[in-house]
Amino acid sequence: MQAQSLQALQGALNIVPPGAVIAPGAEWQRRAVERYRRQQPDAAAALRAEIAARVGRLTGRGVDLSTVVVDEQQQAALVTIDGVQFHWDRTHLTVIRPCAHCGLGSFASPPIHDAGDLGYALSDWRPLHPDCQPFEPDDIH
Ligand SMILES: [Zn+2]
Repeated sequence: MQAQSLQALQGALNIVPPGAVIAPGAEWQRRAVERYRRQQPDAAAALRAEIAARVGRLTGRGVDLSTVVVDEQQQAALVTIDGVQFHWDRTHLTVIRPCAHCGLGSFASPPIHDAGDLGYALSDWRPLHPDCQPFEPDDIH
């Protein structure tokens, strides 16, 4: 984990040749970027803790923090509990499901605040691709 973060950091820094974006003497820009980079591991840890707490409350299941996948660019976390994918974007907890018709893709449910919302996302909510709608526009005359 430590090594991964370091590699990501080095990779991010290597994308831009020195001086390409940050003008000489613009020390405040460099400081801001460094500050941002340093915050990244904290942000990932916070996302892990946040999704684990919310999913734990909803499901009554303990969430192993090491199973939480964090997308630092998107500021989002994903964890799978008993085959159900939960997604947390710092604002909304949602369930990710494939298209109910073709079984492909991934769709985010309406925001989940309580067990009732979760029950809806797991049962009556039927995500569909535009082309997988039961009634094609062409069928309506
Ligand atoms: Zn589909």
